[in-house]
Amino acid sequence: MMQTRSMGALGALLLILGATMSASGQEPAAGAVPVPSQKPDEAPATPPKPAEAPATASGEDQAPEAAVPADEADAPGTPPPPPPAETVPVPEAAPPHGAAPSPAPAPVPTAPEPALPPAAGSPDASAPPQPAPAYVSPEKARTEPEPDAPEASPATVTPAESAEAAAAIEDATACEAELTKRGAEFEVGPSLSEGACGVLRPVELKRFSSGVAVLGQTKMLCRAALALDVWVGEAVVPAAKAELGGASVEAVGGGSTYVCRDRASENGISEHGRGSAVDVAAVALKGGRRIVVEPKAPGTDEDRFLAEIRRAACGPFKTVLGPGTDADHADHLHLDIAARNNGSLYCR
Ligand SMILES: [Zn+2]
Repeated sequence: MMQTRSMGALGALLLILGATMSASGQEPAAGAVPVPSQKPDEAPATPPKPAEAPATASGEDQAPEAAVPADEADAPGTPPPPPPAETVPVPEAAPPHGAAPSPAPAPVPTAPEPALPPAAGSPDASAPPQPAPAYVSPEKARTEPEPDAPEASPATVTPAESAEAAAAIEDATACEAELTKRGAEFEVGPSLSEGACGVLRPVELKRFSSGVAVLGQTKMLCRAALALDVWVGEAVVPAAKAELGGASVEAVGGGSTYVCRDRASENGISEHGRGSAVDVAAVALKGGRRIVVEPKAPGTDEDRFLAEIRRAACGPFKTVLGPGTDADHADHLHLDIAARNNGSLYCR
């Protein structure tokens, strides 16, 4: 079933890629280039599509898989849509922050499950009954739904997890008070949990305390929003004044915040899946000028400006990546507050 979910996300990405290609005119424009056919004969046979893939315009299903961006290569503003509701696993009492589920011997009332419908196509359908585990992995949850399982039963949370969750909530509310005191405008949404991903009390910033607007929507941990607010007020605004001829900053942002996805280069999920990361794609100045994050000609004012705000982000944020780090970060700054093993910063 993991495969199905991947195919669904892949299908969505292909759709987006196809739409982008169409919008950017990479397909043969009418009359511009005499192309005999949009579907060359040597095109490989189209593999069977997943059932949920909608009918697509011609050519979209021929996009090569290699074009799918990996890891942090998040196309700004186009996060992959969530998987269909029926494939979203609902783990029992998922701990906050994706903390490793403790195999606590919770006394889950395990009545025999004669009514459990055999999952269609499940290889486990004929397996002998097993005692219900305290934690159901997402894979298992997809193939062996337990409709009778109570949601977030307190019996499945250990005292240590309860204390940790309480501390996290306390920290989040303290952070929200600090953000309010600074003068930032924001809303706090309901906590998110999908598989290993999730955000406790996600913050949607409306305006930074410095008066700067927010490009795009944000969903992130309050501590990430706080770091972003500090960085915009203490680094981006003064750097624009200093390096861009006294310019005033109108808005900052334009990249992904919370996105549930795997990290390609390492094991585990991306910091975006924990709500601790924010991508910044652009800085808009009053008067209409827009500084896009990308490699600039050395020595230009935009090059100096981007170098300065990138350097200054290392501190409020623990990880700073961007153009020059690798191909995935060529068009945005990736900023996250994830604690490193030894507390050191990771700024490349
Ligand atoms: Zn990122």
